[in-house]
Amino acid sequence: MLPTTAAAALVVTATGATVAESSAALTFEVSGQQTALARTEQAADDATTSDLASRRQASAMQTAALQGRVEAKQRAARSAARKAAAEAAARAKAEREGKRWVRAIKTGTLTSGFGPRWGKTHDGLDVGAPTGTPLYAMSRGTVILSDNVFSFGNKIEIRYWDGTVSWYGHLSRRDVQTGDTVMPGDQVGLVGNTGHSFGSHLHIEIHPTGGDNPINPAPWLRKHGIMVG
Ligand SMILES: [Zn+2]
Repeated sequence: MLPTTAAAALVVTATGATVAESSAALTFEVSGQQTALARTEQAADDATTSDLASRRQASAMQTAALQGRVEAKQRAARSAARKAAAEAAARAKAEREGKRWVRAIKTGTLTSGFGPRWGKTHDGLDVGAPTGTPLYAMSRGTVILSDNVFSFGNKIEIRYWDGTVSWYGHLSRRDVQTGDTVMPGDQVGLVGNTGHSFGSHLHIEIHPTGGDNPINPAPWLRKHGIMVG
């Protein structure tokens, strides 16, 4: 009997143990499955969170990149606007500069005025100055004549931006050619005593509408703030 009882007990014990073990194993297994499931879910959540985070990050980066591009465009636009404004200002300044009026000769002595002289009309002013004294363009314009002509000697005619034409006569030297563009104050030649002249001087005429219609230069020069002599 004993072996049988013992065997039975053992069996029971063994069975119980087995059952217990199985139960524990099952519990463990279930618990393990739950844990695994939980882990899977957590992993899925983490993955979702991570995915969401990386998508958020990507989105943030895209936003930053877009913002960067927008800012770069704004900077470029501001830079272009500044450049355009600077160019417009430079053009306006050049325009103003070009429309300035300056004296034909810096210093000299008025020796003969406009009007009747020696039985005919003197069509300009005579400004006595030493030979070699520089002569200047009075404003922006075009040289329409640079030549040695009878009576005037070396003569320069300039048509200015407003249509006025000035004549300079008796020059010792001409520094510009017909067709040249001049700006206010550009040196165009030197005072001299060439042509029909008795002494070194500048003969200056003003023809407001071009052609050969001289006016008294004095009021015109005064009006422009550039009276000579
Ligand atoms: Zn004269």
